[in-house]
Amino acid sequence: MTRTEELIALEASLGAHNYQPLDVALVRGEGVFVYDVEGKRYLDCLSAYSAVNQGHCHPRILAAMVEQAGKLTLTSRAFRNDQLGLFYREIAELTGSHKVLPMNTGAEAVESAIKAVRKWGYEVKGVEKDKAEIIVCANNFHGRTIGIVGFSTDPDARGGFGPFAPGFKVVPFGDAEAFERAITGNTVAFLVEPIQGEAGVIIPPEGYFKRVRELCTQHNVMLILDEIQTGLGRTGKLLAEQHEGIEADVTLLGKALSGGFYPVSAVLSNSEVLGVLKPGQHGSTFGGNPLACAVARMAMKVLIEEGMIENAAQLGPYFLEGLAGIRSNHVKAVRGRGLMLAVDLHPEAGGARPFCYKLRDKGILAKDTHTDTIRIAPPLIITKDQIDDALAVFDTVLGI
Ligand code: PLP
Repeated sequence: MTRTEELIALEASLGAHNYQPLDVALVRGEGVFVYDVEGKRYLDCLSAYSAVNQGHCHPRILAAMVEQAGKLTLTSRAFRNDQLGLFYREIAELTGSHKVLPMNTGAEAVESAIKAVRKWGYEVKGVEKDKAEIIVCANNFHGRTIGIVGFSTDPDARGGFGPFAPGFKVVPFGDAEAFERAITGNTVAFLVEPIQGEAGVIIPPEGYFKRVRELCTQHNVMLILDEIQTGLGRTGKLLAEQHEGIEADVTLLGKALSGGFYPVSAVLSNSEVLGVLKPGQHGSTFGGNPLACAVARMAMKVLIEEGMIENAAQLGPYFLEGLAGIRSNHVKAVRGRGLMLAVDLHPEAGGARPFCYKLRDKGILAKDTHTDTIRIAPPLIITKDQIDDALAVFDTVLGI
């Protein structure tokens, strides 16, 4: 048995089988590369679902983490610490937000936003008690809590987990008229991803978000953009909303907010929405802890100082063009924004997973999604030469 086989067997015997990972056991990461237990190197084209935008084990984030870990890691919010205020200031300045709520995972940020907008609905908008409605999109992905899967449309995500909380309405993604029809006097928010990542990198039609923004303003509905995957440079802008020329009322960040070192998420809003939360009404033992704050501060700093967003803006289209240029009978379509890319295969190609295994064998780790799609999202520090190398592999695996 190889070391990889041993580790797979151990996971299979003791772990809950709630994932179906590619059979590769990683032991080390550096920049855009990861290494398996057998010593083989791979270009990471998933970046832990865009949590490692800054590259694996970024030395400056690592140093900030180690330094803070040796000083103070957790105080709980029972006491104050010397990092939280600085984190607030830096993330507020970066994103132009007025209020910040620190949490840990992406799903917690989503749940927190739902709580805040409901309370805002009752206290500020004047919605009758327990009547608040939130509109969401078909094929959404916002996390795995019982609240969130309750408004998922994916049978795997929700099947067998009911009963679910009421108060959510589902409309098709990219259809502003359907959104408008779903709005009532009780609608407090529209929760939506700027680009649906887990659904397979689905980019909405031009003008959709402009219209959505107008409708939200007109009907006093809070626009919550879940930028947990699209945010922090992935699409070639700090926030994906910037491509649409709009501003959300509530923005959710997670994943790359720590550069992959630690679960750190945040709800960002104007003063009115997060302002409704009073002491005792929401919280988290780890949310806003000094270690998380120190890591997130440096993760944001390197993203900006090291030009990673510009790199994604510049090289994303180059990567996409290269993928589009591959002569292949298997490829149905390619699409992407910045370094958030996807390749759709024809159903006759036999599914994306066998192609992900072929890519793995040639030193690239990418993820199949929804049977026929390969998602490609390398760290934002990838170079043109590394993209050229990757394209050569994609060409061999997908070509003709
Ligand atoms: N929202 C979006 C858009 C995501 O892509 C994800 C994770 O993939 C989440 C929320 C949930 O984040 P987490 O897995 O950290 O709870």
